[in-house]
Amino acid sequence: MNPNLSRTLTAQANEKVGETIKLQGWVDTLRDHGRVTFVDLRDKLGIIQCVITKKGDKLSDESVIEIIGKVNKRPENSVNKDLVTGTIEIDVSEYKVLNKCKELPIPVKSDGYEIDEELRLKYRYLDLRRERMHNILVMRSNFVRSLREGFFEQDFTEVETPLLSMGTSEGARNFLVPSRMAPGKFYALPQSPQQYKQLLMTAGVDRYFQLARCIRDEDLKFDRGFEFTQLDLEMSFVNESEVMSAVENSVKAAVKAVGSKLKEDPFPVIPYDEAIKKYGADKFDLRTEEEKKANVLAFAWVVKFPFFKKVDRKDASEVEESRSGWVFTHNPFSKPVDEHIEWHLKGENIDKIMTTQYDLVCNGLEVGGGSIRAHDPEVLKATYKIMGYSEEDMMKAIGHMVKAFELGTPPHGGLALGVDRIIMLLANEQSLKETIAFPMTRRGRTSVMDAPSIANPDHLKELGLAVNIGEESDVIFVRLKRLLDSEDVKYEVIEHRSVKTSEEAAEVRNTPMDIAPKAMILTKPDGGLVMVCIPADKKLDMKKASAVVGEKLKFADPEFVESELGVKVGAVPPFGKLFEIETYIDKSFWEKEKVAFNAGRRDRSIIMKASDLIKIAEPNPVSKDSDFKQ
Ligand code: ASP
Repeated sequence: MNPNLSRTLTAQANEKVGETIKLQGWVDTLRDHGRVTFVDLRDKLGIIQCVITKKGDKLSDESVIEIIGKVNKRPENSVNKDLVTGTIEIDVSEYKVLNKCKELPIPVKSDGYEIDEELRLKYRYLDLRRERMHNILVMRSNFVRSLREGFFEQDFTEVETPLLSMGTSEGARNFLVPSRMAPGKFYALPQSPQQYKQLLMTAGVDRYFQLARCIRDEDLKFDRGFEFTQLDLEMSFVNESEVMSAVENSVKAAVKAVGSKLKEDPFPVIPYDEAIKKYGADKFDLRTEEEKKANVLAFAWVVKFPFFKKVDRKDASEVEESRSGWVFTHNPFSKPVDEHIEWHLKGENIDKIMTTQYDLVCNGLEVGGGSIRAHDPEVLKATYKIMGYSEEDMMKAIGHMVKAFELGTPPHGGLALGVDRIIMLLANEQSLKETIAFPMTRRGRTSVMDAPSIANPDHLKELGLAVNIGEESDVIFVRLKRLLDSEDVKYEVIEHRSVKTSEEAAEVRNTPMDIAPKAMILTKPDGGLVMVCIPADKKLDMKKASAVVGEKLKFADPEFVESELGVKVGAVPPFGKLFEIETYIDKSFWEKEKVAFNAGRRDRSIIMKASDLIKIAEPNPVSKDSDFKQ
């Protein structure tokens, strides 16, 4: 093959009719007509038809090939109007296989929605080959590029901030990273660059932005992973409307750059209490049915939020954050509105204090938020005082910020945009995962690679760590206890020998079988899981279960259950929500007084009131009238 010929991309061949070119890419489709073989070669710009009359290497779907051939005009009757390269074809003179593709584990030509999520993520590099996913990746890159340019045009400086640090709380748990140099101590991964970006204002950067990865250990929703991307920014000497307009300028330009339409320009500004009155929520969808069909983007600002709210006992990070029962609604570094600074400093009328927070919503989702910050150290300290911090605790948590605010910090404010969410809306997708190259599974496992995984014992030793969770499923036992404690219910834990069957469990606990909800994990055709709980002395009627759930169900593979849920089959507690799985509980449990079940470990059981189980497990409401037994 001619080594001097440089690569031509498919769509570029249109300009090279009559020339001999080299193409490299994948076998998209193969049509073998005996003497002639048609190969559609695919690269990042699309596909092109290649005609092979002289056979060489054996070709297979999705193999990587290189061909050399002449660009010919197609005869009039074989022009394909749907293809960018539809008026030409390549008369192949030589070709070779650069990498042979064996049988594909998942199809790559369909839109992919029909494929089980676990499989899509295991083979994500194949999944991303499909046209739909490829287009999203390209659109994301174009959108982000335009956003960046928008901020550069407005005199922003791009600055990176550390990943290993103390962590800024944004209302989730921190991810910890153990330190080798200081055994027993930990870094936290940032939930956002909040504090560093404010310190950049102290440093005189004046206008900062960054595409920041934020890492939050939150309860996983079906489409949310632990990390996401923000376009994060901060500005000095500004008020609310100046920040909002800098953001609006860049967002509008970037939305237009990827060919999407805006409903309103400028974005409407709606006070929080008006939004609640009118839409029942602080995120809302302003589009008409027609606009929904046309995937128009309806952005709006929401302003005038309350600064504080009462702690939600179910939210572990709120409980940890507050010592007084009051916790911030959005951001502890925000400044209250000027009219309420007096109250704030004195800790009066806490429920009435308004913050300078502004949120950006679009098509029913919150896609950004920010505020003017408390750059006066007394105001910041007052926020922590309201949350019940002692002077000492406060200085431990934010002493470095207080210090910086005593050393010449300009008034400042900023905002962060949720890039993944905006891309999801632009691409008109239903899940954030469709916008991220390598997202997590719904139970927090990474795409392609198998993390989290067990650490090498020598490595742990070097870090001064010992893993002390007994059997792996202890994690679930601990989480279950935490859940029950947060709901303030009474329950009894029984320690017993390790049991495998429901009969054994009932015997060691000395409880009847029929009060034991046997939690079975079933799969839907799309690979999604459901949990169905029936009395342990009964057998599941799969037909009935399928009818109630409305999908054809089958038993999940026990090995899969153990690796995905981290619990041995037989010890799965009847709380699907611990695993982000929808739960159904047979109607018979509504009439029982008590329930007893293996609590995530084969050697621990919990006995509690049946009504408490039903309250906390939050089974699908149809369960109450549904019979799942044979
Ligand atoms: N740090 C905030 C967040 O991540 C955004 C901001 O106030 O700038 O939500």
